[in-house]
Amino acid sequence: MEFIHEISHVLGLMHCKNKRCVMSFSNSIIDVDLKDWKYCEKCLKKLKDRDIYISI
Ligand SMILES: [Zn+2]
Ligand SMILES: [Zn+2]
Repeated sequence: MEFIHEISHVLGLMHCKNKRCVMSFSNSIIDVDLKDWKYCEKCLKKLKDRDIYISI
């Protein structure tokens, strides 16, 4: 899922304040519940605005 995060930066997304969001910034990988890594609605909309659709 780190890859999804990094590729999203390449696509122009910034870090997200939503801790449930794949684009949230976490200091420790331990804090991350990998099963719950999804885009929040805001980030999803940013991707759609760019005509990008990623399913994870
Ligand atoms: Zn990042
Ligand atoms: Zn987000």
